[in-house]
Amino acid sequence: MEHTQMENGRMMTAFVLKEPGIAGWARVPRPQLVPYGAILEPVLAAPCSSDVHTVFGGGSRKAPNLVLGHECVARVLQVGEEVRDFVPGEIVAVPAITPDWRAPGIQEGNFKHASAPFSGHQLGRSQPGVFAEEFLIPDADTTLAKIPDGVSLEQALMCVDVVTTGFTGAEHADIHFGDTVVVLGIGPIGLMAVAGACLLGAARVLAVGSRPACVEMAYRMGADEVLNYRDGDIVRQVMDRTGGVGADSVIVCGGGDDVFAQAIDMVRYGIGTVSNVNYFGGTGNLPFPKFSGGRGMAGKTIHTELAAGGRVRIERIMAMAKYGKIHPELLITHRLTGLDKIEEALYLMKDKPADLIKAAVAINLDR
Ligand SMILES: [Zn+2]
Repeated sequence: MEHTQMENGRMMTAFVLKEPGIAGWARVPRPQLVPYGAILEPVLAAPCSSDVHTVFGGGSRKAPNLVLGHECVARVLQVGEEVRDFVPGEIVAVPAITPDWRAPGIQEGNFKHASAPFSGHQLGRSQPGVFAEEFLIPDADTTLAKIPDGVSLEQALMCVDVVTTGFTGAEHADIHFGDTVVVLGIGPIGLMAVAGACLLGAARVLAVGSRPACVEMAYRMGADEVLNYRDGDIVRQVMDRTGGVGADSVIVCGGGDDVFAQAIDMVRYGIGTVSNVNYFGGTGNLPFPKFSGGRGMAGKTIHTELAAGGRVRIERIMAMAKYGKIHPELLITHRLTGLDKIEEALYLMKDKPADLIKAAVAINLDR
């Protein structure tokens, strides 16, 4: 592809959603700097199953040629005149969830859904994402996270979405010392939910999944047993292991619409909590089992949540990597180099070869 000098000044290459079901490369306008914002270039990026959902999963209408991607560490290229804490040249972690700290809902503590359900998820959804030569973060000081000394770029990359999302699932599961916790789905998010449940005091973690690389990693992250759907009804398997009463907490990190009913079925009546961070695509309703919901009166708590994001959250998560409490870099099984490899990495996340947990793409790493 040949481009004139002038066109190169205004336009850049990006990996975009062309139309539902089709992702590809496009020339799109470069981002424009704003006073509180920063323009960055990705240095290490990861496609995520949410990108796969955005492309192939239907859902809400997106802008034409929407730039995909929300997981990266990036180099600051330019900062706006009002930015205090960041300077060009710095490499920072970019949270996948970027709340609009100026939305009124923030003052009510509604950090993730301040102006609408899901409004904290902007990159690659309601604003251009990070799979491009450059991208804009509109409010740099409240969004970008300083990578602590001793934290690798790969660790930082896993913290921006995978760790914070898995931990969000664990945080809302009402876990107490000694609890039995089930984690449904052991992709990258579920694996970090296993680690999070252990850190919060679970005595026993039963993880559910079958892909060998993920099963092995679930044990490394602290699972006591990994249950497989192929070995029979998963609710029965959990009931058999919990004296028939079910788990104290169930964290839903993957699966289709039926997984939600399974979670309600297998959580304890009276004090059990189902915590969901799974993305249920499409439209319509999720089934709610009346009987195990005690006709809807069984004292089971359901919490559904988007990951926590923003600067302080991600800096706190990275501190846990710095001091050795978490090892999220273990999740990276595939390493590619070059912006053009984003496409291949996205298809890895979609097609899930047996040895894959998470793919990372190095871009502009040495400059
Ligand atoms: Zn993601």
